[in-house]
Amino acid sequence: MEINGLLLRKYPLGEIDRIFVLYTLEKGRIRAVGSGAQKMKSRWTGVVEPFQLIRADIQTRKDPSLFRIDGAECNRRFQKIVADLERLDAAYGVLEILDRFTPEGDANPQLYRLIVDVLDRIDTGLFDSRFWLRVFQLRFFALAGYEPTLDRCIRCGKRRGTRSAYFTVPEGGVVCKSCCGAESERILLSGPTIELIRKILGEETFPDLRDLPIRKFIEETGPMVSTGFEYYFEGSLRSGGILREMRPD
Ligand SMILES: [Zn+2]
Repeated sequence: MEINGLLLRKYPLGEIDRIFVLYTLEKGRIRAVGSGAQKMKSRWTGVVEPFQLIRADIQTRKDPSLFRIDGAECNRRFQKIVADLERLDAAYGVLEILDRFTPEGDANPQLYRLIVDVLDRIDTGLFDSRFWLRVFQLRFFALAGYEPTLDRCIRCGKRRGTRSAYFTVPEGGVVCKSCCGAESERILLSGPTIELIRKILGEETFPDLRDLPIRKFIEETGPMVSTGFEYYFEGSLRSGGILREMRPD
């Protein structure tokens, strides 16, 4: 069968073969063996590589969880991602989440569309690449069923208005200041950041970013996202934005 997808990572299998972990439109995350893929100048060279969209022919084998790749071609290369460390760092953050937190063999066309859109923005966008990684992370939560409640306090139901509020990951929403005790896991989000999260989650298209408080949004949503992955998916993130944090601005 024919699949459309992108490479998440690859690793050797024996002396000459390789296993490719792919995220595909048709089957979600899959693993596939490329025979002879480690040989120099094999037909895989330059095709099944990170940050390009590929079309490949795959076959099932005796082990139904491991496919075999028979041929592949590249449909699109994200040229700027591979040429720029900041873009690369954010884009690896996307791949890491797909590799670690999506179920094997479970197609999710909505998620696939999101991946392509976000990689496209990281590749061609003028804005901070970390912003697009954050958009991906927030929409990934929503697609997995963890869309946060942001318009009202989840304890007393009072409308939040435009004020800042505390977000609690275990409850999946904001808590107004009068309801919030001294819980250690509370995360303060400013009013504009909460509005931007709502825009990102509420609109099919991506928001127009001019005049939006992007930097503050990236900082404030950092703890929300990292705690979210720990709490909902039981794993902490390794990559994505690491580069920037290591470097003095
Ligand atoms: Zn309240």
